[in-house]
Amino acid sequence: MSDSQLQLGEDESYRALQSSWEQVLDALSERVNKPSFESWIRTARPLGMDGGLVRIGTPSRFAKHWLESKHLDAITELLEAQLGPPIRVKIELVEENEPVLLTEKLPRKPAGRTAEDDDVISQPLNSRYVFDNFVVGPNNRLAHACAVSVAESPGKTYNPLFIYGGPGLGKTHLMQAIGHYVLDNHPGTRVLYVSGETFTYHYITALREHRTADFRRKYRNVDIWLVDDIHFLVGKERTEEEFFHTYNAIYDMGKQIVLTSDRAPKDLDLDTRLLSRFECGLVADITPPDLETRMAIIQSKAASENMTLSNEVMLYIARLITSNIRQIEGALIKLHAYASLMRAPVTESLAQEVLGNYFGEVEIAVVDAQKVQQEVAKRFNVDVAAMKGACRSKDIVLPRQVAMYLMRELTNWSLPAIGRVFGGRDHTTVLHACKCIAAKIAADQAFAALIEDLARRIRGGKTC
Ligand code: ADP
Ligand code: MG
Repeated sequence: MSDSQLQLGEDESYRALQSSWEQVLDALSERVNKPSFESWIRTARPLGMDGGLVRIGTPSRFAKHWLESKHLDAITELLEAQLGPPIRVKIELVEENEPVLLTEKLPRKPAGRTAEDDDVISQPLNSRYVFDNFVVGPNNRLAHACAVSVAESPGKTYNPLFIYGGPGLGKTHLMQAIGHYVLDNHPGTRVLYVSGETFTYHYITALREHRTADFRRKYRNVDIWLVDDIHFLVGKERTEEEFFHTYNAIYDMGKQIVLTSDRAPKDLDLDTRLLSRFECGLVADITPPDLETRMAIIQSKAASENMTLSNEVMLYIARLITSNIRQIEGALIKLHAYASLMRAPVTESLAQEVLGNYFGEVEIAVVDAQKVQQEVAKRFNVDVAAMKGACRSKDIVLPRQVAMYLMRELTNWSLPAIGRVFGGRDHTTVLHACKCIAAKIAADQAFAALIEDLARRIRGGKTC
């Protein structure tokens, strides 16, 4: 039975579709230039799925035509990779504010102005994005600690707080957690959460309608300003200029500003005056989580969905999806939907069947432990025998720890088993090595790149 023939429950089916659509967006964002992506693809959304027919809605006639003529095949292919073939995609014109099937858990795009919400310019916060649900690991420890500190005393510790990192690593989650915390503890606080995209939209609308004074009044009347994905402002000169003035006005009043971006300030092509202001505060990055952190995240997500997963299944997912937590969530939702439809327990072989296809491009080769040792020894120019031996010189300890870390990441060997092939070391030594290397990866980009390259070599994939 093919995936799309399954009659998924309405909610689950929509959630699976929504999460697949997010993956499609991630993939397309890399293939399409940014302005086109933001204007014509990001504004589209899935409306529903019936059998193998996926309906995608867009509010613009041009976007409909552009999507149909240029990207229909790619979208179909990407959706097939997620949901299983065959899929047919239909692009439909929809009203800007037409509700989708299920939105309560998803942050909604700004819905334009209406009489009642004329004064509310903040986008809603997602109720799941709180500190309690955020799993802390070496990859996000600094960003998390700073976010907590800002939430506890806004405007007093790090201002601005600038968080950056790749897609699906928890930037929006952390930022919104600050908003929730402040609102829970000081209910009257004026928290304004907007994405760079929404800020642009508000400003352009205000310009068009000659309401810039009103725009400024609303934007300056805040206690905490959370601006998500400010890289969206790159290349939009007038909006950037307005952002600069808004920023200064809020900052000069001693109010807290938190920003997120997919890049570090120095890599953002924005006005240097703005960048130097960002760098005045605290800049923290979030890197991809290591295996232990991915396991903890999977465990926590599974628990919140009332799913029971064996350690093997969790390890399988953690090894399959390494650099985007949104994808991990998508995988869990999909697994959950399948298992409940088939009334089958989630075993490793079910996970392989359902997800192996889903993340088809990710090869999880069965990695040979010896190969890990050899490749690491070669890269660091040491002997495998020395890595297994008792030597404690720095030149040997580092490659030994790297090899232990990679063995843990890439093979299904247990900690004691890894310890045994390193001259009978204890499992706590292996665990310690894994932690040290994870911390080093989080702190040092060049080192992270080296480890990634090594992992690719060991997996037998392409090298750079
Ligand atoms: P980003 O803004 O960096 O693209 P998000 O904040 O939207 O990423 O995170 C993507 C998904 O992954 C969200 O559903 C979020 O709750 C989840 N997530 C990310 N990091 C963590 C974490 N450390 N612990 C728990 N969930 C996380
Ligand atoms: Mg985000």
